[in-house]
Parts: sequence; structure tokens; C-alpha cells
Amino acid sequence: SSTAEKLISAIRTIPDYPKPGVQFRDITTLLGNANAFATAVEGLAQPFIGTGIDKIAGIEARGFILGGAVAHRLCAGFVPIRKKGKLPHDIVRVAYSLEYGLDEMEMHRDGVKPGEKVILIDDLIATGGTAEAAVKLLGQIGADIVAACFVIDLPDLGGRSKLEALGVPVRTLIAFE
Ligand code: 5GP
Repeated sequence: SSTAEKLISAIRTIPDYPKPGVQFRDITTLLGNANAFATAVEGLAQPFIGTGIDKIAGIEARGFILGGAVAHRLCAGFVPIRKKGKLPHDIVRVAYSLEYGLDEMEMHRDGVKPGEKVILIDDLIATGGTAEAAVKLLGQIGADIVAACFVIDLPDLGGRSKLEALGVPVRTLIAFE
């Protein structure tokens, strides 16, 4: 579709970043393109307009930019899911594995109330490890996770099925093999 083509052509690919063999999908060019940014935000928000979403949960840091805009579009609140040590009030925390070792992510315990309808947003899903940790965090506080939405899917890395196995519907706008 022309929407997908517009998004794909607005994303810059950086070979061998952050290490040899990786093709990094750089969305700063998409964010800097008013038409492409609006297309991405509209594409993420559109299925959920009028469905009573209470909160958008955005994953640091690119999920903040997209998630804030989607929250505004849906007249929903925004809650940040952050790297450890950044949030000032009572938190819930989850550990998750990275390529080397463990990391932790946190959100405010009162950021979402039990039963609130939440959409999780990030720019890209690869292995799904980051989003899986965020789903567990939202689960700890009893959120109703309606969907997890990403601009970019890297389907070869299997993230979608990892989230779907947790019962979370996944929506992505474009894919890179
Ligand atoms: P995963 O945990 O699914 O393996 O990796 C996804 C996380 O890493 C997301 O938070 C995403 O922002 C980041 N990420 C991994 N690879 C890329 C990439 O090529 N481009 C961008 N923009 N983010 C990436």
C-alpha cells in the first residue's frame, strides 16, 4: 500500500550499527518528516479510535515519542515504561535478558489502575524481549492490555509470536526481512 511505502521510504537503514552485521532501522528520519510521522501515528491509532482506551504505555525512548502522539490522538493518558532508576515515585519492576546479561525496566505503580485498557507502543519489535518485559510489568498491576503496536516488525526474529503466546494481540505497520 502507499501508506507502507511512505513509511518504508522515510526510514533510514544504517549498516553495521551498533555492531557489524546489524542493519539498524533509524526512525529519526521518519520523525523528522511531518507527513511520515503523521502517517505512522494515524496508522497506530486508527483501529482504536472510539474504543475507550484509557492509557498508552510507551517504552523508553522511541516509544515515548510515538506513544505520546498516539495518546493525544486517542484522548488517552500516557504512562512511561523506563530504564531502571529514572522514576521518582513507587514503582513496579521487571528483569529481562539482553544479549549480554540482564536489565530491568520500571513503571510507576499508580501509572495504570487495575482493569484500565492499555495499548503498549514502541517503534520496533525484534526478538520481543523488551515488549515481553513491558507486558509483564503491566500485568503486575492488572492492566487490560488491548494490544501491542509497533511501526516496524522484524519478523525473522519472532517477537510477534512471543507476545501472542502471552495473549497480547500484536499490530505492526511495516516489516523488514
Ligand atoms: P527486542 O527486545 O524486540 O529484541 O528489541 C526491540 C527494542 O530494541 C525496541 O525498544 C527497539 O527500539 C530497539 N531496537 C532494536 N533494533 C532496532 C533497530 O534496528 N531500530 C530501532 N529504531 N530500534 C531498534
